[in-house]
Amino acid sequence: MPLTLTRPDLQRQHNFIANAWHDATDGRLLPVSDPATDTVFAHVPDSAAADARAAVDAAHAAFPAWRALTGRERAQYLKRWHALILAYQDDLGRLISREQGKPLAEGRGEVLYAASYVEWFAEEAARSHGEVIPEPVRGRKMLMVKEPVGVVAAITPWNFPAAMIARKIAPALAAGCTVVAKPAEDTPLTSLALVRLAEEAGLPAGVLNMVTASRERAAEVVDVWLADSRVRKITFTGSTPVGKHLVRESAATLKRVSMELGGNAPFIVFEDADLDAAVAGLMAAKFRNGGQTCVCPNRVFVHDAVHYDFVARLSARVAALKVGPASAPDSQIGPMINARAVDKIAAHVADAVERGACVVTGGERLAALGANYFAPTILVGVDAGMRCTQEETFGPVVPVTRFEHEDEVVAAANDTPFGLAAYFYTRDMARAWRVADRLESGIVGINEGALAAEVAPFGGIKESGYGREGSRHGLDDYTQMKYLCQGGLG
Ligand code: ADP
Repeated sequence: MPLTLTRPDLQRQHNFIANAWHDATDGRLLPVSDPATDTVFAHVPDSAAADARAAVDAAHAAFPAWRALTGRERAQYLKRWHALILAYQDDLGRLISREQGKPLAEGRGEVLYAASYVEWFAEEAARSHGEVIPEPVRGRKMLMVKEPVGVVAAITPWNFPAAMIARKIAPALAAGCTVVAKPAEDTPLTSLALVRLAEEAGLPAGVLNMVTASRERAAEVVDVWLADSRVRKITFTGSTPVGKHLVRESAATLKRVSMELGGNAPFIVFEDADLDAAVAGLMAAKFRNGGQTCVCPNRVFVHDAVHYDFVARLSARVAALKVGPASAPDSQIGPMINARAVDKIAAHVADAVERGACVVTGGERLAALGANYFAPTILVGVDAGMRCTQEETFGPVVPVTRFEHEDEVVAAANDTPFGLAAYFYTRDMARAWRVADRLESGIVGINEGALAAEVAPFGGIKESGYGREGSRHGLDDYTQMKYLCQGGLG
């Protein structure tokens, strides 16, 4: 089915460098396919080192003038960008659904979510306060001001092609940084469309630059940015192994880094929980984007006393989920992003079953729909030795483990190198604060399954990374402190 947009020019197929649209210097192309059918429907540049360098040249040249603007002046550009994103939310939602596979309603929802970060950081741009420090000796004035770090390289994943770009670019631009960005190879079109709208918002040349590349050439592009001392910061969302590689390589030029990496979120249902609320929370948290989010519950712990009841209520909801292409209006779960993703999900389910878990519902590929579909699945009898509890499955699979005691389940929840999101349901107030305090996680949902919001600090601890996106702290990742001391004041 052809992709029809009210603004066909939003489907860009070029790199954006210094406010001009370019092919890759060596002319290579990266095909973009619809995960629902695996058919190619667009091409973008498969960029190389020369393109990455040209992007840094442009961002570096644009930095002095951009940082010299006041926060309020920079905010005007972001506000115009925000208005354009809202104006074309349907087109952007359609692009997301086509290249990423999430149902259209979710695609539109993601656009609004992305826009909320642009609006938030437009507002925060004028609020990058420093501080006046009481002087310890007479005759001096001391203060701290915040400055933009410089050129920022942003590398984003495929699961939220609009939101991940907005969450990085909006605070960087608000703080006075200029940006070079590389979206994920599976979903470059949404990101390029956002850049097209930023161009239309009047951003000066070089302030925002984007190059696209295949998975094979991603390292070639990013290695240029890692090695270039003009790039002062790397902001990354993606897998932990790639994140660790970027941290290691950025050490040579001591860049600042923000890393939003993998999670292994626990979801705990205590015996005193409101079970209907817990089921609703799990459905929202687990099945958003077909289970392909880094805050999706990956390990579900249910107290012995309510296990049977909870699984029964949950399986009624899961079995009723409608799986289908993003283009079908009633789809609730779309295709997974690619064959690699479905293979991993199938391997996790097979491993769990081999080690003694039972499938309550689902458990198999939905080949009749296409190669990338997997049935929403519940597994019971899951234990800590199974792959699905040790690694992120990143798919529509709910692995359920039973527990008896609070101490035992908190220890099990924390028994992972990761610490991004955690959820639990209880009606006992004392327990709520006790457990929230003990969970090793950057984000904790207490009787709530939908946690992300532009007003709140999103980010992890342990091997889930560092840095926070959103909230009044979000600008800090893109600023550095300068201490000023004036003496001789008598
Ligand atoms: P996923 O497994 O979900 O695709 P990745 O961490 O592999 O997550 O990808 C996230 C982003 O990192 C994508 O933009 C991808 O192109 C990029 N990427 C992947 N490998 C490398 C690498 N070796 N160097 C730099 N960037 C990479």
